[in-house]
Amino acid sequence: MRVQQSVPVLPSFGRAFHAACVFVIGTLATTTLAAPPHWYGPLTSGGEPRVPRANTLPDYYEAEDGGILVDGMYFPDRATYVASDAFLQGGRRCGYVTPDPVLDPAATLRSQSDCSFTQTVIRPEYATENGPVYRIPVVVHVLQRTNGIGFLSEAQVRSQIDILNEDFRALPGTNGSLGADVGIEFFLATEDPDGNPTTGITYTTNNTFYNDGGSYWNSLSWDPERYMNIYTNSASGNLGYVPIVTPGSSSDRVVVLWESFGRNAPFAPYDLGRTGTHEVGHYLGLDHTFGGGCGGSDCYRSGDLLCDTNAQESPTFGCPSNPTSCASSDPKDNYMDYSFDACMTRFTPEQANRMRCTLMFYRPDLAVVVPTACSPADLTTTGNAEGEPDGVVDLSDFSYYLSIWSSSDTAADVTTTGTASGIPDGTVDLSDFSFYLSLWSAGCP
Ligand SMILES: [Zn+2]
Repeated sequence: MRVQQSVPVLPSFGRAFHAACVFVIGTLATTTLAAPPHWYGPLTSGGEPRVPRANTLPDYYEAEDGGILVDGMYFPDRATYVASDAFLQGGRRCGYVTPDPVLDPAATLRSQSDCSFTQTVIRPEYATENGPVYRIPVVVHVLQRTNGIGFLSEAQVRSQIDILNEDFRALPGTNGSLGADVGIEFFLATEDPDGNPTTGITYTTNNTFYNDGGSYWNSLSWDPERYMNIYTNSASGNLGYVPIVTPGSSSDRVVVLWESFGRNAPFAPYDLGRTGTHEVGHYLGLDHTFGGGCGGSDCYRSGDLLCDTNAQESPTFGCPSNPTSCASSDPKDNYMDYSFDACMTRFTPEQANRMRCTLMFYRPDLAVVVPTACSPADLTTTGNAEGEPDGVVDLSDFSYYLSIWSSSDTAADVTTTGTASGIPDGTVDLSDFSFYLSLWSAGCP
């Protein structure tokens, strides 16, 4: 039911900033031996500001026989590469780059909200328990070589979606049960951008795309304002990355190494799908727990911009028992650290708060709102924006929504008929409310 994507609970926010991708994909072959860049800023307990490493992906090429050339260094296979300093000290576990709020134009891409690149403001309206469950439609683009390397079965792709839901909802009985419930779910898209049925998975055979070159998103992406586009390939020698680009632009994407994608993936110990969880965390506005090191006196404006993740001087590798830095235990069990997959077990409540804020402000047309019970429909007694429920769904609730939708969101016009057909006619009228009423009241006694 595609129309569900048009159900907002907050007004849309315009995107005031537009800029080109800050990453430059390196040439596929290289003859120079480059020094590995820093993978986190100058890290002193005195609290330096957030300073990122260089905004570049490595020069990377994976040959047909599995040999890897990265930044001028050759490795016979991925296991050797991942055990090397080029991977570990070179920061290739994840290619996400913390934007520099002063020097980096990318930082302005998300500069005006409670979850910008320079600050977090924790507010009750972003808390999981105070809002709906959001469901994000996903398309997974599998980029494979002509020799078949990179192929993922539909079942393997689906297992990654399952893991995202286990981790973001902290589902009982799963590997993600220990974390905070983010209240965000994921599903493989059932309709493509043209409205046709789909598995939510595309397959493309192209050796350049497999090597993460060729700007594949220009030809393959599905409207990034409406779908989270995940690509699996060699990920430029990382386990994954998310570029800092304008949300909703064609290059807006999540990239994950195909061998670490899904449950029981072939590349242990990064085989439990936590690379996907980690990268989607970036996609929803999270930094590394070690981003900015120990940070400064205000944990909402330094470090990873959150206070309930302990400050951390450097990434955790492996699964040490009790690493400490910055006068506290390192959050090695957090999905946004670099631990082995089996040792990552949680998001924190403030990470959930920031991700939901990011979704509302920077990806307002992405998620579907789940109509879970009667109460979410009952927002206000007065028709104003106070949002206090009174236990009754009545016209004041609709007035509230009308004022929001008609002011800023053309998607408010959902249907001409009041049914679930979801064909807009350009006018917000009672039929739209009928549609929403039927949606919200579903399941109510
Ligand atoms: Zn990362």
